[in-house]
Amino acid sequence: MAIRQIRILGDPILNKKCKEVKVIDEKLVELADDMLETMYEANGVGLAAPQVGILKRMVVIDVGDGPIVMINPRIIETSGSQTGDEGCLSYPGKAGTVTRPNYVKAVFTAEDGEEYEIEGEELLARAICHELDHLDGHMYVEKVEGSVHDVTYEE
Ligand code: ZN
Repeated sequence: MAIRQIRILGDPILNKKCKEVKVIDEKLVELADDMLETMYEANGVGLAAPQVGILKRMVVIDVGDGPIVMINPRIIETSGSQTGDEGCLSYPGKAGTVTRPNYVKAVFTAEDGEEYEIEGEELLARAICHELDHLDGHMYVEKVEGSVHDVTYEE
């Protein structure tokens, strides 16, 4: 596994639409492993392939319940809403208020090639929406209510 370089807001690759994954091979599994390692190292809860410069529809998420690798994910149902602070590893040190659905149901292909369904509430729902936006070239800053502010981390 290796840490990959995270692309930062302003990098044009973050505004591109990603391509559907057609083949799950060793290289893709290695990319997923690298993305997870990169996400953990940066203390993030999610990372999308374009954030490491790869225009493929794959995201990794871990909101504290273990890693999830989602290939070709699609949201099929949402309900409710939540408004709260959101940040992004491609815009370090910043956060802004974004309203998202409070519940999300998504389908995706896992690394074993099988299709799965996932349901998430609160942070997981927010993370799924945020990461899937990346696959279509969207950053959360486009959805921020008010302005983006600095985040001060507690040591
Ligand atoms: Zn992000």
